[in-house]
Amino acid sequence: MTALDDRPWMSTIPTDLYIGGNWRQAGRPDPIPVLDPATEQVLVTVADASPEDGIAAVDAAAAALPGWAAASPRHRSDVLMRAFALMTERREQLAELIVLENGKALADARGEVAYAAEFFRWYAEEAVRAAGTVQTAPAGTNNILVLRQPIGVAVLVTPWNFPAAMATRKIGPALAAGCTVVLKPATETPLTAFAIVALLEEAGVPPGVVNCVTTRSAGSVVKAMVDDPRVRKLSFTGSTEVGRRLLATAAETVVSCSMELGGNAPFLVLADADLDTAVAGAMLAKMRNGGSACTAANRFYVHASIEREFASRLSVAMSRLRVGNGLDAGVDVGPLVNAPTRDKVAELVTGALDGGAAVLSGGSAPDRPGFFYTPTVLGEVPADASILREEIFGPVAPVVPFDTVDEAIALANDTEYGLVSYVYTGDLAQGLAVSERLDSGMVGLNRGVVSDPAAPFGGTKQSGVGREGGHEGMLEYLESKYIAVGW
Ligand code: NAP
Repeated sequence: MTALDDRPWMSTIPTDLYIGGNWRQAGRPDPIPVLDPATEQVLVTVADASPEDGIAAVDAAAAALPGWAAASPRHRSDVLMRAFALMTERREQLAELIVLENGKALADARGEVAYAAEFFRWYAEEAVRAAGTVQTAPAGTNNILVLRQPIGVAVLVTPWNFPAAMATRKIGPALAAGCTVVLKPATETPLTAFAIVALLEEAGVPPGVVNCVTTRSAGSVVKAMVDDPRVRKLSFTGSTEVGRRLLATAAETVVSCSMELGGNAPFLVLADADLDTAVAGAMLAKMRNGGSACTAANRFYVHASIEREFASRLSVAMSRLRVGNGLDAGVDVGPLVNAPTRDKVAELVTGALDGGAAVLSGGSAPDRPGFFYTPTVLGEVPADASILREEIFGPVAPVVPFDTVDEAIALANDTEYGLVSYVYTGDLAQGLAVSERLDSGMVGLNRGVVSDPAAPFGGTKQSGVGREGGHEGMLEYLESKYIAVGW
């Protein structure tokens, strides 16, 4: 008996490929098992698409493009608003589905569904505001008219850590702009993607406008699609390593890319910070999604005068978290998504301890089925420890003291990543000045969460290219067409 048997409505979630408005079987015979990370049991199996299936999805998206691009902005907006309403209505079921395949605690999953639905609402509102511009040429000889047109067929590749929100953050602006899409969700979390695609059909998305393929051969299926000249956009969220490879693939056909990649967020606590506020913010920045977030605080730099007190309070807060099956009442932290992710967290902790770090709380994987790791705080972490350089993606907080603000900023910026940084201080002017000097696309200033559908989300350096959310998010799916007009 699996958790799915307790929830009969989940048997209605499709597991085949969604192409051209039809659910159909994949060209490959062996379906892909989807595991419950809390029990390690197989929940269901889903279709394993071949590169030919990927091309069939591009065929469908290309066929649907002229009609969707020509649909009125108001119509596209109405469809997205219905999708928002349906998602909000089904929040509880979708949240349980996310917990089952991803493992996160139910409260985190409910938060994710609400956040994910907001992308449909925000882009329903943006769909009718894709304004172009008109100006007189400086020489006065003509007018410069700029139209915004849909870029075309978009391939969307998403990770497992926010299976709903990473899909809607791409589908929302793409559909608002008049593009058609093929979604390739992560192999660990395909069910949430299928549920969202089914919901979009119910909301009135025409056949072929949204297609969805699952595959255990992401490399060859995505490459086949991106190599197809009808595909004009690749939007990817995932690791920097895979992002680099996809940028190289996209270079062959000069496909426009949006890349939301890995992070290594520094969390700075300046000497004048209110400690209670900073610890509360640290818990949010570290533990949202059990630490499996690209925005997760990865390194805590705390002024030497308060470092011990901060680390001690953080340890108390972390050790109070209840670890368990994300569906159980009162659980704060679920398992990590799979064994390799859990093992990487354990390796980073062991490496830090071998280098001289001290465990202040946690520090091990509990002896039970499921991919769990106990929330952990480490002190005395050596400057060269891998845990300060690599994305942990789990519930571990290394704390490091600093003496001057300049030193803290230099430590924070000493990484190839630049997604988000956090700063806590009692002096807002100082906080703004420090924020300006942090080399990241986003800063949480006395805030432990930055994600907001209305704000431009994205990174500098190797954390990515482009922005999702806000007004900027839709521009990623629009091409500017300039018409020189004499009138
Ligand atoms: P990942 O291994 O890079 O996978 C992401 C997606 O890419 C999955 O759908 C995956 O499919 C697919 N993929 C893997 N190899 C591919 C290839 N060669 N060609 C095309 N697609 C390929 O990342 P993940 O482990 O799922 O997610 C964690 C990472 O995502 C972290 O680094 C995190 O920071 C990042 N992330 C960034 C943001 C952001 O907004 N910046 C948000 C969330 C997560 P399979 O599942 O089949 O392998």
